[in-house]
Amino acid sequence: RAKSAGGNRFELADPESDARAITRHGLTTALPTALDRGEFFIEYQPLVHLGDGSVRGAEALVRWLHPQHGVLSPDRFIPLAEHTGLIVPLGRWVLEQSVLQARAWRDLHGGAEALGPLRINVNLSPCQLTHPGLVQDTVEILERTGMSPDALCLEVTESALIGADDDLLKPLRRLAEMGVDIALDDFGTGYSNLANLRRLPVSVLKLDRSFTQSMQRFPADPVDLKIVEGIVSLAHSLDLAVTVEGVETGAQAEQLRVLGCDTAQGWYYARPGPRTASTTWPWSTRRASPFQGRPRPGVR
Ligand code: C2E
Ligand code: MG
Ligand code: MG
Ligand code: MG
Repeated sequence: RAKSAGGNRFELADPESDARAITRHGLTTALPTALDRGEFFIEYQPLVHLGDGSVRGAEALVRWLHPQHGVLSPDRFIPLAEHTGLIVPLGRWVLEQSVLQARAWRDLHGGAEALGPLRINVNLSPCQLTHPGLVQDTVEILERTGMSPDALCLEVTESALIGADDDLLKPLRRLAEMGVDIALDDFGTGYSNLANLRRLPVSVLKLDRSFTQSMQRFPADPVDLKIVEGIVSLAHSLDLAVTVEGVETGAQAEQLRVLGCDTAQGWYYARPGPRTASTTWPWSTRRASPFQGRPRPGVR
């Protein structure tokens, strides 16, 4: 259906975007009370060391089980939560649940030694960075659960920190000084000045999935290979670890390992899955080489 908007101009009604706008409106209305109704849940995806295949931790990824629309991915509701301010209590809830889960896994596996350097990664929205309670909430959650700060890694996107002034970096610095790891998420998609990295209290670069995707093509784009190689060597010279996201095949894992990346995350190892305190540490702790075997049955 095209309606004439006068003259030679035509405006096309887009039923799909109308439907999306209606859904978005409905979601925005339902969002403020969804936390109280217990409609959010967290899925975890393991982080695997590329050198020896051991599981080093897991990233917490929030989902919304909406009574009408089913399971919604964070891309659908995190922007709305940021807009409405729900992101602060929601983010705190995700942090608390994730640290509790890490504690439960640790207990089920006979303490910190048995699990090794297990870490839980939690995403932070820029709105949480500017919220004054961030450091105190984090300290309180760690103390209450008896988890050490170095069991936690907070992920902040590169774009959230572009042009960040000292006020924005202050809470991150405090957390880093306590021993919490800070990861720069989706690295390589923003346009941050690489020299700027020195200023940021980060200890991990998470290379964006777009780089991993270009390793899928064979032969991989030589320019992309050079870029990843350059990022890895810069990161290592600044004492930063490099994690890659979106690894879907053994060939990608091998390529990224050869390029010097440290840890990987992706469907090749395991899809994000719901875990509860009653389940044991859900992933095999060792996979000798990325080429050996397919993901374990039962690990979705
Ligand atoms: P992210 O932090 O970059 O998370 C990685 C995304 O890649 C996740 O999408 C994950 O499910 C997906 N992924 C993992 N492995 C693969 C793979 O092999 N192939 C492909 N194609 N995708 C893979 P998800 O779960 O939809 O999350 C999207 C984004 O939402 C996250 O991107 C993160 O920025 C945000 N997010 C998730 N949970 C939270 C949260 O608790 N708080 C905040 N503020 N943001 C969150
Ligand atoms: Mg992340
Ligand atoms: Mg990411
Ligand atoms: Mg990403």
